[in-house]
Amino acid sequence: MTSDAIARRETVDALRTVRELWGELLLAIETPPTDVWPPRQLAHTLRAGDDEPLVVEDRAPLVLREHPAPLNMTALDTGLAVERLLFGLADTLAAAVQRAKPDDPRRWAFQHPGAADARRAAGSRTHGLHFASVWIEGRVLDEDTEPEQQLDGTPTAPPFEPLPPHLLHEARRTARIAEGRLLRTLRLDQRETPVPDRTCPWCGGELTLRTTPDEPPTVTCSTGPECAAPVSLDERGRRAWGWRDLAALVAALSTAQPQ
Ligand SMILES: [Zn+2]
Repeated sequence: MTSDAIARRETVDALRTVRELWGELLLAIETPPTDVWPPRQLAHTLRAGDDEPLVVEDRAPLVLREHPAPLNMTALDTGLAVERLLFGLADTLAAAVQRAKPDDPRRWAFQHPGAADARRAAGSRTHGLHFASVWIEGRVLDEDTEPEQQLDGTPTAPPFEPLPPHLLHEARRTARIAEGRLLRTLRLDQRETPVPDRTCPWCGGELTLRTTPDEPPTVTCSTGPECAAPVSLDERGRRAWGWRDLAALVAALSTAQPQ
């Protein structure tokens, strides 16, 4: 794989992690900081069924909202910083490669701080972090860079030019900084937490939650390959639940009797 292909993949991975964790961050802002179980990165999942799911796409951007009494200032600071990083990156990429016409919904609209109309003043920021992250991913993947045909068959210039390598690497740097801040604030940094009062629903083994700065959390079962849990083994032969498997584990634990 070329270094550009690696940079592209790492940028897309970081942007997707930011999107996956954004709802957790928004909830963290509204939740007092705590050290006790359950770890807050699972709190959203654990509460599912009690509340309406948080629809991240419907939330106004933090940089455009009032914050009368946030319960977790660290989480709010991180949210504001991540928005500024990605909104600024979208501005940079749009200035370099965007050729889309003003009425094209794929266009990233810049801020117009002097505009009387609030939407126009905020530009595409009004659509929020999720939109900005998906838009940046499209540029990183060189989407919509082929000539298109009008209704009468006339070819028109593509809405975007391919991203030059220096901006691809700028996108990777910025996306990874944003991802790192989110992971640290959500305490997905290096730590191991034994899961208290519950054992593996498949074998009764001890469960341990593991987090690292660069990867989403996992839970492992202490038993080893004999454990019949329907997940793959990690490099040490333990059943391991990745981030996408954790919801299923939480569901299995919530139906199992406390031990
Ligand atoms: Zn087990």
